[in-house]
Formats: sequence, C-alpha cells, structure tokens
Amino acid sequence: MKLIDGNTIAKSIIEDLTIKVSRIKKGKPCVAFIRVGKDPASISYVRKKQKTAEAIGIDSELTILPEDISQDALFSKIDILNKDDRINGILIQAPLPDHIDETATFNRVSPDKDVDGFHTLNIGKLCQEDPSGFVACTPAGIVELIRHSKIDTEGKHVVVLGRSQIVGKPSALLMIRKELPGNATVTICHSRTQNLHKITQQADILIAAIGKAHFVTKAMITKGVSIIDVGINRIPDASKKSGFRLVGDVDFEEVSPFCEHITPVPGGVGPMTVAMLMQNTLNAFLKKHSIKM
Ligand code: NDP
Repeated sequence: MKLIDGNTIAKSIIEDLTIKVSRIKKGKPCVAFIRVGKDPASISYVRKKQKTAEAIGIDSELTILPEDISQDALFSKIDILNKDDRINGILIQAPLPDHIDETATFNRVSPDKDVDGFHTLNIGKLCQEDPSGFVACTPAGIVELIRHSKIDTEGKHVVVLGRSQIVGKPSALLMIRKELPGNATVTICHSRTQNLHKITQQADILIAAIGKAHFVTKAMITKGVSIIDVGINRIPDASKKSGFRLVGDVDFEEVSPFCEHITPVPGGVGPMTVAMLMQNTLNAFLKKHSIKM
C-alpha cells in the first residue's frame, strides 16, 4: 500500500507558486474571501487559505457577513469585488445559510475571478475541455494527486461516490477528459444508486465524496484499488482537546491494507484544495496582465 501524501505534494506546488509570485515585477495577485456566519469549519478553512496565500506572497482580504444577510446584500458585496481592480479572485466559503441561493451566488462572481471554478461558464468550459476556464479546486487537487502518484487512469474504471456540483460531478468530468490523467471509464454513484457495493467492487480507482464517516468498507472494494478519500467528517474523540477528530468517507484502518494507493484524512485531498486555489488565483492574475510564465 502506498500512502498518497497530500501535504508533501501540496507543499511542492506551494513552493513553485512562491517562486513564480516572487518573479512578478509589477503588482501582486490578490484573493478576496467572503465568509457568511460563524460556522467553525468555515472559519478554520478561510484562515488556512489566508495563511497559505500570505506564505506564497499572494494578498488576501476577508469580508465577514452576518448569518442573516439578504441575498441582495450579498450580491452587492460580490458586485463591488467584481469591479475592484485589485482583486483577481473571489471565494465565497460554502456552506451558505439556507435562505441564500448558493448556485445564484456562485454565478454572481465574475467568471474571470471565479477561482473556485463554480460559475456556470467555467463548468461549461470544463465540459468542453476548454483549458481557459477555472477548474474547481478540490477536483483539480484530486487530479494532481493522481498525476503525482503516477496512477494510471487510461481506460481504467473510475467510480465516483457523490454527484455534487463542487466535487463529484467535476471530478467525473476530469476523469473522462481526453488527456491524462483522464481517459477513464467513469461511473458516478449517489444516494439512489442500487447495489452500490457491486459497482464500487469494480473500481480500479475510487473517489469517495459523500460526507459519511467510514462509509467505504473492505466489503465494497477489490484488492489493488486506488482510493482518493475526499470526505471530511468530524467524529467524537474524547482524547482530543477539541473533543473530535477528522476522518474520511473510507474506513482507512480496514481498507488501506488492500489498496494500491490511498489518501489519508487529514493530509490527503484537503491541502491540495488550498494549493489549487492559490494556483487559480495566480493564473487569474497572469491572465489579466497577459503575463506568461
Ligand atoms: P454533498 O453533500 O454536496 O454531496 C454528497 C453526495 O454524496 C451526494 O451526491 C449524495 O447523493 C451522495 N450520497 C450521500 N449519501 C450517500 C449514500 N449513502 N450512498 C451513496 N451516495 C451518497 O457533499 P460534497 O460533495 O460537498 O462533499 C462531500 C465530502 O467531501 C464532505 O465530507 C465534504 O466535507 C468533503 N469535502 C472535502 C473537501 C476537501 O478539500 N478535502 C472539499 C469539499 C468537500 P444525492 O445527490 O443523491 O443526495
């Protein structure tokens, strides 16, 4: 079993980005974060993203909005950032409160600043395999983990667990692209899928993104599978100061001995998501200023 070390791979990407940013002669990339409410996970994710931006030399700014903000007021804030020439990327940290239309909010961001890759235009470009668009950070990170680990995807069966707009669907689209890593045969599973374990047993590569702790067990896989565990789930753990620990969607202890490759949680996909956000922000800056690197 080979452990895919997302921390190390993300670190090398961040080092590369740091060098590239230091070579910019005029101006600095800048990413703007919008956080709505006080969700502890969102607070910690945004903090991590800001720290990484700072380490690379990317400027960042944070707008914190109240939980009861109206859709219109949120749109107004996005409009201001869209027009702000200093800002290259805008990230609206999900989840948003229930009264906010998440898709409409993501579509309010200018496609040129949509470093999260959630705008309809960028998803369309992904479908058309047009490289000028932004690819959502977590799926882009998954592809980089697969590339760095030299996992062969050509003609392989990739099973994606989960059909969300931000992870499942774009990951499946990337895996069927006519380039490597890609060229795979992809099956997407979701909560209505029947005989799920029979499908997952056929996977050469399993991407688990459903948000259920320890969901994937040994009975669901075949020896030699490579697993990318996207899930981040909090489970109670009295031995931790916080009272909980993070686990993935895969029962790592039980499943990992039978895998060719597997990502840990934490330390797998999570750090890659942050690295890809920084990559997208730099790309937005370079594109705006017509700089080639
Ligand atoms: P969503 O809740 O948006 O989607 C979950 C998907 O899983 C849905 O398609 C749902 O099906 C499916 N699902 C739920 N239960 C089952 C089941 N019993 N059997 C089969 N399919 C099921 O989640 P996200 O895609 O946003 O996130 C998934 C996980 O990844 C979460 O743990 C999240 O925290 C984590 N995550 C991690 C990131 C990282 O950087 N590492 C980034 C983003 C997310 P249906 O559509 O039918 O409801």
